[in-house]
Amino acid sequence: LSSTEIPREEVMIIKYLLKNSERDIYQSQISKELNIDPRVVSKILIRLEEKGAIKREPVIYESRKTLLIKPVKEALIELMEKAGIDPYTPKEVFERIKDIPCITCPYIYKCYEGGYYDPTTCQWLSEYLSQRR
Ligand code: SF4
Repeated sequence: LSSTEIPREEVMIIKYLLKNSERDIYQSQISKELNIDPRVVSKILIRLEEKGAIKREPVIYESRKTLLIKPVKEALIELMEKAGIDPYTPKEVFERIKDIPCITCPYIYKCYEGGYYDPTTCQWLSEYLSQRR
């Protein structure tokens, strides 16, 4: 492997973390759901933690000790991009952008900075962005 290549299991785990970043993710779940040896999952998560791409917190889940994984999305995406891998499938990209008001805006072809329709002052866009904070 060259320095920017990522092992297949690591790619699977990063994609899983990105996809599920809005809910609680437990280390024990990852090996079950992705069918990867728990020791491999543990090694990969330690590496991701060292790179600042996740944070881990000890918790009890289903009466067992495990770790709660907190993904750092920007860092995970950067790791994938460095390895030349698209972090999202086209369907996931569409899901992420479909609510942006510009996608369905009738003024998109007349909208530019300094124009009558201006993205820097647009209320629809500001409202959309403020809801996502
Ligand atoms: S910035 Fe506002 S006006 Fe411009 S395309 Fe997007 S939604 Fe339409």
